[in-house]
Amino acid sequence: MKEDLRGGATGLREPTRAWVTQCALSRICGVCEGGLGRPIAFLGSPVEQDRNQFHQPPMHLACAEDVRLGDHVIVVTAGFDFIRPDRDDPDQSPRFEPNSAL
Ligand SMILES: [Zn+2]
Repeated sequence: MKEDLRGGATGLREPTRAWVTQCALSRICGVCEGGLGRPIAFLGSPVEQDRNQFHQPPMHLACAEDVRLGDHVIVVTAGFDFIRPDRDDPDQSPRFEPNSAL
């Protein structure tokens, strides 16, 4: 699986609602789809880091490092909350809040 990712510009998938929900509920890595233990890594922009809200699903740390691009930051945590927006939420994308930064 990992080898296949190297051909593309990035190993990141589009973080669709269905995909990130599957990752959250099944606790699988957003890159290699393997089961997640600890630590859990989140890959995002500096803005996402400031808000502590990430749109890409949780990943293995090694997988996050593999697909990291440009100004991406990696946050490592022992756990996370999965946020499913309600109707009034200005951000209608499901997202993740690391809750036990390591
Ligand atoms: Zn992985």
